[in-house]
Amino acid sequence: MENKKIEFNSLKIEELEDLFLSLGEKKFRAEQFFRFMHQKKNFEIENCKQLPKVLIEKLKEIGYINTSSIYTKYESKLDNTKKYLIKLYDNRIIETVFMDYGSYCTVCISSQVGCRMGCTFCASTKENFKRNLTSAEMLNQIYLIENDLNLTINNVVIMGIGEPLDNYNNVIGFLKIINSEKGKNLSLRNITISTCGLVHNIYKLADEKLPVTLTISLHNPFQKERREIMPISDNFSIDEILKACKYYFDKTSRRVSFEYTIIKGQNDSKKHALELKNILKGLNCHINIIPLNSIKEFDGVAPSTKYIYVFKSMLENYGINATIRKKQGDDINGACGQLRQGVLQEEN
Ligand code: SAH
Repeated sequence: MENKKIEFNSLKIEELEDLFLSLGEKKFRAEQFFRFMHQKKNFEIENCKQLPKVLIEKLKEIGYINTSSIYTKYESKLDNTKKYLIKLYDNRIIETVFMDYGSYCTVCISSQVGCRMGCTFCASTKENFKRNLTSAEMLNQIYLIENDLNLTINNVVIMGIGEPLDNYNNVIGFLKIINSEKGKNLSLRNITISTCGLVHNIYKLADEKLPVTLTISLHNPFQKERREIMPISDNFSIDEILKACKYYFDKTSRRVSFEYTIIKGQNDSKKHALELKNILKGLNCHINIIPLNSIKEFDGVAPSTKYIYVFKSMLENYGINATIRKKQGDDINGACGQLRQGVLQEEN
């Protein structure tokens, strides 16, 4: 795909309208084309029958619709979770997970091919960073699954492969397109962005005043111990992250939540619970405890389920709201931190 060409399905409606006006076309044509891509979820420009033939030819000359396809689907036997390997235009593979919670359906999408954050316990980072996903490639993950399962996705979590705030502009583009009335029209309140704490971009996101839910991967309340599992802590301290969270809450009125991947003997003591209470004092927040999903590259395990409940009660006794994340799709490596790009290479 040539770089100079325009990626139509990564353009916000206003950008597409400006483009059409610059081509001497009417605005409503841009809206027809936008609906074709984001409501009909169609990847072939020539199938857009509403547009005149000459315009279709002109569009094909200057741009393209970025197309992804389902490469493989794994279905969990334990629950209704499905993991999709999605093939991008350049043959790279990413993973996307569909979770069925009965009344609503959630997808966990990837934001990058690989990841450069280097968290020691996370599979996504093990094969290094390859490239950012475009806004269209994030949208395509949702559209492909909706088409495949013939249903509507009403919740999106950006918690798959990659660090969303390390691909800031494309993630914002994604949010604006998916939220557009002329597109999928998904409420931003139904979207969660998970970050390891890129402080400068938490401030930037707060200033956008988009009501998305922000969740911070905290995993340890002690700076030195957090650094041992999350190298990004060198750049952004826990103090700085918490200040940014307060700012986010003030700007958006959205309660920030924290993810806490619990690892036996490493971050699960009373001392950790007490320090969590100390650092989170006065912050309207919530902790989501994620039992560690073991990966071969990391030597650590989750505590027993019984003990995880003990840790949860410790937090609650300190006045911190906490929940334990249910494992989804454990038998298909669909759970948190188990997604990796490059499955294709491994299988081969
Ligand atoms: N880069 C984003 C999204 C990552 S994945 C972030 O750091 O938040 C979403 C969550 O899964 C993060 O909290 C991440 O730290 C956690 N996670 C990663 N590997 C894990 C593992 N092996 N077991 C449990 N949780 C894991």
